[in-house]
Amino acid sequence: MRGNLDIAVIGGGINGISSATELAAEGHRVELFERGELMGETSSRSSKLLHGGLRYLETGELRLVREALGERSRWLADCPQHAQPLRLALPVYAGVSRSPLLLGAGLALYGLLAGRQGLGRSQWLGAREFARLNPELQPGGLRGGFYFFDGRMDDRALGLWLAGVARTRGVVIHEHAPVLGLDAGGGVRLACGERRFDLVVNAAGPWAEVLLRDSGLQPAHGIDWVRGSHIVFDEPLAQACLLQVPGEKRIFFVLPWQGRTLVGTTEVAQSREEPIAASAAEIDYLLAARNHYFRAAKTRADVGEVFAGVRPLLHFEGDPGRASREYALARQDRVLSIYGGKWTTARALGRQVARMVRESPPPPR
Ligand SMILES: Cc1cc2nc3c(=O)[nH]c(=O)nc-3n(C[C@H](O)[C@H](O)[C@H](O)COP(=O)(O)OP(=O)(O)OC[C@H]3O[C@@H](n4cnc5c(N)ncnc54)[C@H](O)[C@@H]3O)c2cc1C
Repeated sequence: MRGNLDIAVIGGGINGISSATELAAEGHRVELFERGELMGETSSRSSKLLHGGLRYLETGELRLVREALGERSRWLADCPQHAQPLRLALPVYAGVSRSPLLLGAGLALYGLLAGRQGLGRSQWLGAREFARLNPELQPGGLRGGFYFFDGRMDDRALGLWLAGVARTRGVVIHEHAPVLGLDAGGGVRLACGERRFDLVVNAAGPWAEVLLRDSGLQPAHGIDWVRGSHIVFDEPLAQACLLQVPGEKRIFFVLPWQGRTLVGTTEVAQSREEPIAASAAEIDYLLAARNHYFRAAKTRADVGEVFAGVRPLLHFEGDPGRASREYALARQDRVLSIYGGKWTTARALGRQVARMVRESPPPPR
């Protein structure tokens, strides 16, 4: 049966755009309200990776990794102008906590979970050959390295491409249209007055919980704000690298990005009151981590751009680095809220939103 509901989607990040696109595909009349510009917040401040998340294997999030690997290949197939396969180098140095054996097993599992949607086999090279192919890296202590594949994207452009798909499916998009409040009966308060909908999808990302609380509604889940910052150097980079932060288990990326070099990211708990901006300590942390592995050191003077975003993570007690990247959906009467959600899996999340509405539609108004 074709959908026939009037639905408001709040939030023009990748999760709101994906939800609107999937709901419109089911025949619903969808309007999306974004307080600023489409793709103007978290969704354009990512590490630009369409990935399964190799490191989530360590936290046992196999369902999420499998789903993300499937979604990775869908993005690459659907929008090759903004999403391409990326070959990453994973150098292994003496003294780091993950052995070549462990990493090799992790990459083999990553390949298995990708199945037929894999982008190519991972490969191990000995120290001499790996150092020859990666002359910009420090050769001292190098035990060898892996090559493996993931996806990269222009996050903002890819999200705007999907917004174009949404428009062709009839979604009406309002930018600079903040939602000032909502109620469980489907009311949405805007600067121009109140509108009523059969269903409201709260896809306000990091602000989803705030919006509910400010509207007097009890959120089903807590959202932790974990800031991630990136620094950009103006020079190009030949080879994308995944590296382990010296003295930590955390990993970070050094990536080619639009003819420049992107280094990120950090994981810092942040309060609602602080501005979403990289601290001096985060910039120094990223510089030090990068300089540990590269022959030519960089300084603050080389940093051409800095950007930061907050991950909307399902509430977790403990180290934010081990917090789940899973998402959750919860419905209160006519309000369906999205908690968490990665960029890569946004369209799977959107399909789940549409499925929930199909299987359990709200009663007629
Ligand atoms: C540093 C960092 C790196 C990351 N790297 C990756 C990566 O490489 N790959 C990956 O898959 N994922 C990555 N992620 C995760 C991913 O970027 C986010 O999970 C995703 O972008 C969240 O999208 P969203 O649509 O939920 O939120 P957002 O993009 O923040 O969108 C929410 C929107 O809601 C709007 N809004 C809020 N309140 C209101 C209101 N009252 N009325 C109207 N509009 C409102 C906001 O303006 C915003 O545009 C990263 C995240 C961070 C922070």
